Amino acid sequence: MKTAAKYFLLICAVAASGAAQSPQAPPPAASSALAQVIDRIITQENQLSKSVARYHPLVETYIQHVKPDQELGAVPEKDEYFLGKLNLAGGIDDHSLLSGPNLPVKSLKFFNRFFSIRFLPSGFAQMALVDEAGFDRQHYDFEYVRREFLGEVRAVVFDVKPKKGSGAGRFLGRIWAEDQDYHIVRFNGTYGPTTSYRHYFHFDSWRVNMGPNLWLPAYIYTEESDFRYVKVRSLRFKGQTRIWGYDLKQGGREDEFTKIVVDAQNPVRDQSDTPADLAPVGSLRAWERLAEENVLQRLEKAGLLAPEGEVDKILTTVVNNIQVTNNIDIQPEVRARVLLTTPLESFTVGHTIVISRGLLDVLPDEASLAMVLSHELAHILLGHRLDTKFAFDDRMLFADEQTFKRLGFRHDAKDETAADQKALALLENSPYKDKAAAAGLFLKALSARAGELPALIRPHMGNRMADGKTVSRMAQLMNSAPQLETARKEQIAALPLGGRVKVDPWSCRIMMLHNKPVALLSAREKLPFEITPFLPYLTRQSATEQVAAAGAVGAGANTGDATGNGGGAAHQPKTPGVDDDSQGSTETTTAATEVRPATPAAPPKQ
Ligand SMILES: [Zn+2]
Repeated sequence: MKTAAKYFLLICAVAASGAAQSPQAPPPAASSALAQVIDRIITQENQLSKSVARYHPLVETYIQHVKPDQELGAVPEKDEYFLGKLNLAGGIDDHSLLSGPNLPVKSLKFFNRFFSIRFLPSGFAQMALVDEAGFDRQHYDFEYVRREFLGEVRAVVFDVKPKKGSGAGRFLGRIWAEDQDYHIVRFNGTYGPTTSYRHYFHFDSWRVNMGPNLWLPAYIYTEESDFRYVKVRSLRFKGQTRIWGYDLKQGGREDEFTKIVVDAQNPVRDQSDTPADLAPVGSLRAWERLAEENVLQRLEKAGLLAPEGEVDKILTTVVNNIQVTNNIDIQPEVRARVLLTTPLESFTVGHTIVISRGLLDVLPDEASLAMVLSHELAHILLGHRLDTKFAFDDRMLFADEQTFKRLGFRHDAKDETAADQKALALLENSPYKDKAAAAGLFLKALSARAGELPALIRPHMGNRMADGKTVSRMAQLMNSAPQLETARKEQIAALPLGGRVKVDPWSCRIMMLHNKPVALLSAREKLPFEITPFLPYLTRQSATEQVAAAGAVGAGANTGDATGNGGGAAHQPKTPGVDDDSQGSTETTTAATEVRPATPAAPPKQ
């Protein structure tokens, strides 16, 4: 890419607009209390810079370049994606997870370079930490602004400016520090000073309480709306960075021992009612299930798959709805899990359907979800099996960075076509039969945007949903869909990213977000497949709360609309007054529940 070299020559545009001049000095008593607060903030931040080096969470950055649009304000023009392990001790390390055959090495290199040029001097890490070398009174001036709540957490707010001549890569902006231990929980601004060859973008960086006295980086939003460089060129983009999996070592399996010891009524040896020796078909199934379990556990250990939880039950309910109405009983039972990454994809691992967080986010309704799940269910019904080589444990012994090279679940074109046909038949007999238009509309929206968003539609492990502008999944459903009307605010064909599923950055557990419906003001707020800023509702966690929360993720989520009925922060597909075909989805779930009263066949273990 030719433009890559250009980024080396970025010309400054940002630093000029400094913060306002300080008002009159506070009285002496207040100023000494304030000085103590500032000292505590500095101490905590510098301790974090040191202690954070022991964690190696996953970091995912997704960037959309945007261009002006008459109707919608701005629309995506192209996108970029990065997934790696964060090493906060020394910038982002080289161990990207993205080097599989689906990603050209050239573009990866381009991205790495592009990325590091953006976030000098220490690459990405800088935006997770205020200033890892020199956050102190020698390098900065602090000016008290006010107290403010961020969610439940009360914070003291300061404007922070680097002192003159304090060197390159200094933070300029505002910090929020919670007022119990004085951890910085949010900082918003940019770095500077810019020079002719070094430029810094604006960002809003958030930390989440992950235990007593522990606040760690979790979300960073980046945006530039009119970034001028090389005199005449202008760059407009927005980007989301998510960090999760701080507690990856134990792979979410630690509590299993506790369970076995405590639960004396349910001895380890005797968990199944089948005879000790299995018939040939039984042993084949068990062998395949073993391969499936191995893969799922490995993905979970790498921080790529969310631990079993409430969201899986919601997905399983929809799968059951399809199975029940089609008189299908699959053994072993079909399960569903969530891949924690953004690119839109779904695939099956044996009898487990995996759907990505990004895809769950953008699906507008239960019918669209049923479309995705029915395709995967069709693969299972057609016997498109998982390679049983994964039943051998040595095949799971690889570095996390190798995951996408070692594990792939793509089907060939013949199997894909067969699965689509079967899935259409399944939907035809399902409670979603009359809502196929909504699913088709989603595919039309995907088709309209896919050409500009190649990174979003490039799967890690599954098959593509679209190739360029061409939808390659269940495309026939588009025939029954209404016309896509991007300018009509009432037609919600796809949601923005990040509105449905919330990931606990510590444990990787997920829950459905339950946002209040928001009536859209204009079509500009539809933002299909787009990035929006992070504004997390901060809370404090005690150690006991943390454990409790892990067990009760998304409690009450499985009522009514099986998709959780949670649109984006600025979004809600079932807004009052919106002409939405899927209003009846609540009944759908209920109806199917009546067919088989014990809804999700096997509630996943917590
Ligand atoms: Zn498929």
